[in-house]
Amino acid sequence: MIAPFSLARLPRIEFGSGRLQRVPALAARYGSRALLITGARSFTDSPHAAGLYSGLKEAGLSWKQFQVAGEPSPELVDAAVAKYRDGDFAVVIGIGGGSVLDAAKAVAGLLRVGNSVMDYLEGVGPELPYAGPAVPFIAVPTTAGTGSEATKNAVLSRQGETGFKKSFRDEQLVPEYAVVDPDLLSGCPPELIAANGMDALTQLIESYVSLRANTFTDALAISGLRAARDGLLDWYHHGSSALEARARMAYAALISGITLAQTGLGSVHGLASPLGAYFPIGHGVVCGTLVAEATRVNIDVMREREPDNPALAKYARLAEILCQQRIREPEAAREKLVQLLYDWTEQLDLPELGELGVEATDLPRIVASSRGSSMKTNPVVLTDADITHLLEQRL
Ligand SMILES: [Zn+2]
Repeated sequence: MIAPFSLARLPRIEFGSGRLQRVPALAARYGSRALLITGARSFTDSPHAAGLYSGLKEAGLSWKQFQVAGEPSPELVDAAVAKYRDGDFAVVIGIGGGSVLDAAKAVAGLLRVGNSVMDYLEGVGPELPYAGPAVPFIAVPTTAGTGSEATKNAVLSRQGETGFKKSFRDEQLVPEYAVVDPDLLSGCPPELIAANGMDALTQLIESYVSLRANTFTDALAISGLRAARDGLLDWYHHGSSALEARARMAYAALISGITLAQTGLGSVHGLASPLGAYFPIGHGVVCGTLVAEATRVNIDVMREREPDNPALAKYARLAEILCQQRIREPEAAREKLVQLLYDWTEQLDLPELGELGVEATDLPRIVASSRGSSMKTNPVVLTDADITHLLEQRL
């Protein structure tokens, strides 16, 4: 029996080694002026940049380049929009990690609108409805993690005591094209492979057990999870020589973006929002350090309060996929899943929250700010005590 489902808009996708070369022709479909948004250095310093610039010239495009360093703030987005508003750009091309793509996505959404992004951020400010129009956006990831190339939201943050990490979200912000070229991941340092890879893995797991999961997203999530299973540790341990592993993680990250955009996420991402706002901890590190324990807490709570919750069987199935073995006893399978996730967390050298500056006295306000949209699709409702327990296990 296939239950009814809806699919939200997806980008057109170009995946594979060398696909960066298609970007100029794709961009030229929209006009002759492009705003190119990149990271501070990594792409610009890479051998791929020269090829892109000459390709853009050959395709008759002129462009301005804007560089983004670190996680994007609303102020950064507003400053870019103010600077480039009158530039008559037909297309925005974002090339970089999740932060760069989120910044570029937000700028593309506001170039023709002119409002401050604070007018639209969820949970802060007036939350005006976004009418658009957005400038067509081409997303080119250079890390394998957030899946931002496939989603309709741009995550922006302000750090510190009054900090937040919130989404500007609208279907008009979905990229026109996601160009995923695994060659762009070369030179990715091990700590980024680990953090981004655990983000993608977490997004796939949370999509798979989400309250809004469906037959279509389950099939995709499983395909992404197999790729992550075969790619993540291999790429982390062998670096640039593991070409196949790298491509698998580029695929896993893309799929995680597609599934999360359809299903929402879970408790790890609910907690990633306050943790990333109050502490200078990268998003992927938060996911990596929490995913094993969050899985254990979800399983324990369901066993105790909702033994018929269908996500319990899904966790057992997940164990079989990630461990690549048939496990007859579901309880044993779920225990193996938690063990495997803990084992990966250790192999990938992900620190505990305590090592990242989080203290026991911080937990109440983290818990209080964890109930954003992600927590609402967690397969089971967690109490404040459940969430506190989860965090305590990782201090
Ligand atoms: Zn994530």
